Amino acid sequence: MLWLALGPFPAMENQVLVIRIKIPNSGAVDWTVHSGPQLLFRDVLDVIGQVLPEATTTAFEYEDEDGDRITVRSDEEMKAMLSYYYSTVMEQQVNGQLIEPLQIFPRACKPPGERNIHGLKVNTRAGPSQHASPVVSDSLPSNSLKKSSAELKKILANGQMNEQDIRYRDTLGHGNGGTVYKAYHVPSGKILAVKVILLDITLELQKQIMSELEILYKCDSSYIIGFYGAFFVENRISICTEFMDGGSLDVYRKIPEHVLGRIAVAVVKGLTYLWSLKILHRDVKPSNMLVNTGGQVKLCDFGVSTQLVNSIAKTYVGTNAYMAPERISGEQYGIHSDVWSLGISFMEPLQLLQCIVDEDSPVLPLGEFSEPFVHFITQCMRKQPKERPAPEELMGHPFIVQFNDGNSTVVSMWVCRALEERRSQQGPP
Ligand code: ATP
Ligand code: MG
Repeated sequence: MLWLALGPFPAMENQVLVIRIKIPNSGAVDWTVHSGPQLLFRDVLDVIGQVLPEATTTAFEYEDEDGDRITVRSDEEMKAMLSYYYSTVMEQQVNGQLIEPLQIFPRACKPPGERNIHGLKVNTRAGPSQHASPVVSDSLPSNSLKKSSAELKKILANGQMNEQDIRYRDTLGHGNGGTVYKAYHVPSGKILAVKVILLDITLELQKQIMSELEILYKCDSSYIIGFYGAFFVENRISICTEFMDGGSLDVYRKIPEHVLGRIAVAVVKGLTYLWSLKILHRDVKPSNMLVNTGGQVKLCDFGVSTQLVNSIAKTYVGTNAYMAPERISGEQYGIHSDVWSLGISFMEPLQLLQCIVDEDSPVLPLGEFSEPFVHFITQCMRKQPKERPAPEELMGHPFIVQFNDGNSTVVSMWVCRALEERRSQQGPP
């Protein structure tokens, strides 16, 4: 048994608090908390989730002096519990007794195996020092603890984001799978874009998605959206990325070719980078190409997590206008399919979309656009996947070469002007 001596009540805020999580029919896990009075309800649920990964815990209980169980479901109720507990600690001290840990009893709302709504949550508080790893008390089988403790450490080490530190502001847009918000990250002072997707999936799948997303930390390219972290809360995942103040390309009207050329260079470089990591984008389209007033162009929403793609696809089925014919007809997806979507994405801002699987590939009218541009698009949209340019051919294409001059001012000025126009049309806020 682990006992802990606490100091006098006024100094308790600085004291370590031991919470004993009682496990039904098997024992208990002691969890040492270094700043007990600041502890939030969801912090406790998070740790219970690590200790009892199979259960869906939505609340817990503690016992009052008469042995009656009191349920805790909110921060308010947490406060009441802690103040009750600290008063009992004081009493024990005054009487010269040993200080007992705070015992809590997790309450599962559904039996294990059923739909998980309070699953894995990552980084409940910034920094790993807030929660010490749970310490096993006598009666818990040690291998189950080892697993939860190791998992907890791993989870706490990944990413810096958690729900409490984020203040949601405007809605940037709705997609098929979720909603994107502009948000403020309090500890860093950064503005983020947070994509929230509802997913009714098991804890196992949640974990798989989190581990698949880890590759995003390694993505380091100025043509790929920066990734800050992701976390699950209940049945939704929040994915935090860099905010791009120019938004996505789909909202821009006709883009002049000298601007579009520079954008295309960035997109080709972004795709080439992803392909070099063996990642297929799988969703190349104007709404997944973001620009900012600094003239940067970045790709987002690429299919880095197969499980995330599958889970979203289960809820939202369908094809879109940018999908390659072989994909629509259910054949194998490869780099070539990304190349098709690249081609058609750059046709659309020119409002020439006319692509149908069984008809001839679309062609841009010569005369209105430069010959290299028309050739580039036409090559990307060859019906036969293998006839489309390979990554190095894309980079070496005259249209790309022509605009590969690193001139971000062109894009920057165009984004700034377009935003200015939009603002003046909307009038004063
Ligand atoms: P789909 O769900 O089919 O991919 P979509 O790309 O339009 O469609 P979301 O990915 O949910 O949908 O994005 C919604 C909108 O949010 C986008 O159209 C874009 O304008 C905006 N957006 C997304 N990410 C960012 C970001 N990092 N910075 C600024 N705006 C963003
Ligand atoms: Mg998107």
